[in-house]
Amino acid sequence: MSSTVGFIGLGNMGGPMAINLVKAGHKVIGFDLSDAAMTTHAEAGGDRGTSVADLAAASDVIVTMLPAGKHVRQIYQGEGGILENAKPGTLLIDSSTIDVDSARAVSAASAEKGMPMVDAPVSGGVAGAAGGTLTFMVGGPDEAYDAAKPYLDIMGKTIVHAGGAGNGQAAKICNNMILGISMIGVSEAFVLGEKLGLDPQKLFDISSTASGQCWSLTSYCPVPGPLPSSPANRDYQPGFAAAMMLKDLKLAQEAASSAGAATPLGAEAASLYTLFCNSGGESLDFSGIVKFLRGHD
Ligand code: NAD
Repeated sequence: MSSTVGFIGLGNMGGPMAINLVKAGHKVIGFDLSDAAMTTHAEAGGDRGTSVADLAAASDVIVTMLPAGKHVRQIYQGEGGILENAKPGTLLIDSSTIDVDSARAVSAASAEKGMPMVDAPVSGGVAGAAGGTLTFMVGGPDEAYDAAKPYLDIMGKTIVHAGGAGNGQAAKICNNMILGISMIGVSEAFVLGEKLGLDPQKLFDISSTASGQCWSLTSYCPVPGPLPSSPANRDYQPGFAAAMMLKDLKLAQEAASSAGAATPLGAEAASLYTLFCNSGGESLDFSGIVKFLRGHD
């Protein structure tokens, strides 16, 4: 069944996600502050929205893909925003990566207006957005999840219902905290191995089949050589930029402080990624932290 979908935030991720909805036969009204993003959307067969308010009033479903919590709160709860203008019953899907507290606050405000909402952050990057192969981590009530699933299926390959409102964001930042910490651990081991005269290929061959095995090692090895597909072999071009990893680690620290959880390694990972980003690494792939830990190229 074809619906009218409003899509706000047509950036690196949102642009191709919206186009996949167009290709699936939906009428997709796009809106972005960037005129170039709107033109790309229109050239791919999407409609140009004129404002958030008009888009909200005309849509059965609204997807948002915005940079951070402040943008999401503004677009949903601000003057001229979604909650002021959408019809009751409009399905709301926020796929931005934002803080858990904002996700829960916006979800509660949507429920008060009779609009079912899910937080549905993604992993899979720009390639996953273009290919419709994203993983969605979804938080929200069962009815909202069931209503959102057909749309998420168009944009993604793996859709997981992680529980109530905010739990999609919780799953995303917990996963990326594991990833940030494990990438630093693997990188430190390779730097130590180098200094001890150990061939990186030998360390890879041994650890990839021993108890040091993890995704950061076997799917994303931070040194060139052992794994041809990893960004280490192309001068650490992303991939997943260090600035994005830092954003997620900071969100994890905010959530840990708000929930009273002790995450000392998560805090250390956030500090190290801050230093790496401040020393010029922010647009490199996050596995480039190995260069920072080594102290030279
Ligand atoms: P982006 O900066 O490319 O896109 C964000 C878009 O939102 C921009 O086009 C911007 O103009 C638009 N925007 C900002 N404020 C707006 C407003 N008030 N009204 C309308 N449009 C507005 O960012 P992105 O890479 O597409 O990331 C979007 C979200 O997805 C972020 O939360 C990010 O953390 C998350 N994410 C990104 C990746 C990735 O690999 N890029 C992977 C997973 C998750």
